[in-house]
Amino acid sequence: MVETPSWTSEFKQSFKNLKDLYQFLEWPMLEELEAVALSYPIFVPRSLALKIKLEGPEGILAREFLPHKAELEEKLNQEGLADPIGDKTFFKAPQLIHRYASRALFTPTTICPVHCRYCFRKNELNGNEELFQQDFLETLSYLRSHPEISEIIFTGGDPLTLSNEKLEKYLKAFAEIKSIKDIRLHTRYPVILPERIDQDLLAVLNLASEHFRTVSLAVHANHAKEFDETNKTAIKALSQSKIQLLSQTVLLKGVNDNPQDLLELFDLFIEMKVRPYYLHHPDRVKGGMHFYLPLEEGRKLYQGLRNLLPGWAIPHYVIDIPGGHGKVTAYNPETTTFSGQLISKNGTAIDLQEPDFFV
Ligand SMILES: *Cc1c(COP(=O)(O)O)cnc(C)c1O
Ligand code: SF4
Repeated sequence: MVETPSWTSEFKQSFKNLKDLYQFLEWPMLEELEAVALSYPIFVPRSLALKIKLEGPEGILAREFLPHKAELEEKLNQEGLADPIGDKTFFKAPQLIHRYASRALFTPTTICPVHCRYCFRKNELNGNEELFQQDFLETLSYLRSHPEISEIIFTGGDPLTLSNEKLEKYLKAFAEIKSIKDIRLHTRYPVILPERIDQDLLAVLNLASEHFRTVSLAVHANHAKEFDETNKTAIKALSQSKIQLLSQTVLLKGVNDNPQDLLELFDLFIEMKVRPYYLHHPDRVKGGMHFYLPLEEGRKLYQGLRNLLPGWAIPHYVIDIPGGHGKVTAYNPETTTFSGQLISKNGTAIDLQEPDFFV
């Protein structure tokens, strides 16, 4: 955490040009990456580039944030979708995705502090920042006429790309609608550009926490290697504010698809007082299929994790069913017809013999 709002200069100095980035890394740049970056531009803040450099070209961070030739491999990406989660049809008002009755996603920006190579929106980002901006009154009027919406979830892009002033303006507008009780922000800034967690932001969030039942911030991180003293300090400052900290992780092949790395990450969340919330099965995104792994494998990993973590620290393992069918739990049998079999801890399927009085 820093005292002055210097995050915008950090943001502006990020690498957007492949040659500059590789010059900084001092690694030979494969020519084929130019075509990759043309389809899927890079965006890497300098402090992150340094961490990538220190970890090396085969490291976890290089895999998450540097372009890879697999992004353009046609065969690999055959099963990939441009819009894997299909939530566009649920835009019910400007910047507002209303899909589940009680909560709505608010997308005030398409800009992120980094371009994650696995991003589910990688085929649609870099859009028009000011898109719909002028119609915010229409969004408010939709919310007023839908009092069943009790939570607004800021997403994007990354909502902390907004200035503190703009964020405060939106929060104040939502606070005037009595049916809105909870606010959530999903963000990668605390980990990627921790300078963003400045005193003014903490003040805005603390003030908001007096006007809403809960204000939560879901920190997006996928590996313990993403952390250092700087971002841990920023997250500590958030944990000492009045808001609730949640976690959000994407399961990714070659990044965190083993029990040790997941355990280390979730241990770290616990240590930072971030409450584990989501473990997302990777989306089948075009250009990101090299991160995909079968559901079967994810379920096994999750089962392993459940044995390693205390119950209150177990995230929900969820999957967005391709084709716009929505987000469901990927582990719990409630998403399939209950087969009557239970799986024991050692993996044996057991037919549940109901006591006589149940049949
Ligand atoms: C994930 C999601 C939400 C929030 O769901 P929670 O279960 O409250 O985390 C809301 N709307 C959409 C469209 C979503 O994908
Ligand atoms: S922060 Fe989220 S929305 Fe932004 S690039 Fe990464 S995965 Fe995509």
